[in-house]
Amino acid sequence: ATAQIGVTGLAVMGRNLARNFARNGFTVAVHNRTASRTDALVKEFGDEGTFVAAHTPEEFVAALERPRRLVIMVKAGDPTDAVIQEFAPLLEDGDVIIDGGNAHFEDTRRREKELRERGIHFVGAGVSGGEEGALHGPSIMPGGSAESYTSLGPMLEKIAAKAKDGTPCTAHIGPDGAGHFVKMVHNGIEYADMQLIAEAYDLLRRIAGYSPAQIADTFRSWNTGRLDSYLIEITAEVLAHTDAATGKPFVDVVQDRAEQKGTGRWTVQIALDLGVPVSGIAEAVFARSLSGHADLREASRELPGPVAKPLEGAEASAFADRVEQALYASKVVSYTQGFHQIRAGSEAYDWDIDLGSVAAIWRAGCIIRAAFLDRIRAAYDSRPELVSLLSDEEFGREIGAAQDDWRAVVAEAARQGVPTPGFAAALSYYDGLRADRLPAALTQGQRDFFGAHTYRRTDREGSFHTLWGGDRSEVEAG
Ligand code: NDP
Repeated sequence: ATAQIGVTGLAVMGRNLARNFARNGFTVAVHNRTASRTDALVKEFGDEGTFVAAHTPEEFVAALERPRRLVIMVKAGDPTDAVIQEFAPLLEDGDVIIDGGNAHFEDTRRREKELRERGIHFVGAGVSGGEEGALHGPSIMPGGSAESYTSLGPMLEKIAAKAKDGTPCTAHIGPDGAGHFVKMVHNGIEYADMQLIAEAYDLLRRIAGYSPAQIADTFRSWNTGRLDSYLIEITAEVLAHTDAATGKPFVDVVQDRAEQKGTGRWTVQIALDLGVPVSGIAEAVFARSLSGHADLREASRELPGPVAKPLEGAEASAFADRVEQALYASKVVSYTQGFHQIRAGSEAYDWDIDLGSVAAIWRAGCIIRAAFLDRIRAAYDSRPELVSLLSDEEFGREIGAAQDDWRAVVAEAARQGVPTPGFAAALSYYDGLRADRLPAALTQGQRDFFGAHTYRRTDREGSFHTLWGGDRSEVEAG
């Protein structure tokens, strides 16, 4: 046995991860259900490092040094279980299986438990950065036992992206499903980020009257400031792109129906279970689903409403500046909600996740990498008990300065009939949190009226019920 690590599942992600390990000096055993992929990898990239091609599970396992470390990079769901069932009987006590696919964290919890009972460490590792990230350095979010990280961690740290200060974008997240949970929330935040950027584009196009090329320039200039991020950068590229066949802006020849694979939906489903308000992520998922309902949209085209009238000159550029403020403030809210969800998950599942460390490993490699994650890291590092990112002094101050423009943008969008579900939900969340009194008091009254659900009073301890159908006197509930 000569290989320090093995990768099975050699489609785009697995192949590039295997190459990344090899380029970093590790001997890598490679295996794929369909052997031709294995041979193609070695033929094409064999000179990048040392690969051991394995054509059967037995050969693959035999090639690995002990404790064996084998990365599964196959289609998430049943295929992952099938591959685990195939390999687990060939492994021994102390070996480590790493699932780098986009597994649901509940599946990871189940698999970890089953394998732990068989003496095998199971590491559910979120991997972000797409194809390029896998090759040049992804952000890696490994869960599982702390013991497994001692042998695996240094290897992951080698292949992971490095933040500007040189630290690797990977860290042990927590037991069993913690890594995949954090990856799930990463993807939820990614949905929200993308939706907010799309709304900013729509506002600049329809209210500021900018062309896609002008918006690309605007985004490029925003990308030199506090919005500096991979998603803003690639958005500028997409907007500047011209369709070769028609000579039109690319964005005008693509159908306006967004697809989704499901991790955003999972984030929202789990947030509902945990009772965490992630309205920004939810609106982003719903915006994609609304975009896909062709029949619903067709049936609604004639509904009355204003047609946006573009601004001109200095007014347009002043509006664009306000959109930057609104985008930034909404983005801070999305991250606030995402980190709240991670905290809630960590408490519910006893994972003890370090939020500062999560922000730190998202600084490079992953899709939501952004300059301001370093500030989120700093906020949690200095105050790990921080209840909400918005209660961090610096973020609070920034939002305070942005909020007039944020309101103006949401109001103008409503006036001109441009949908901004992400901006508006973020602003409502902000105002909801800062409210002195919420109308939830009335909701309590309604619930007590129709269902005798009881309510709590502001001035006395205990639960109370009003005899709404009788003399309306109040009784203390047992
Ligand atoms: P795919 O998700 O397209 O999966 C294809 C691979 O799975 C092939 O190697 C295929 O083998 C293997 N496979 C499928 N079913 C089985 C089975 N029953 N038994 C054994 N092998 C099977 O590949 P990707 O590289 O796109 O993604 C791999 C994982 O990484 C997925 O979980 C994905 O969600 C995750 N991921 C993907 C990202 C991306 O940008 N694509 C980013 C981050 C994570 P065969 O060649 O024999 O068909």
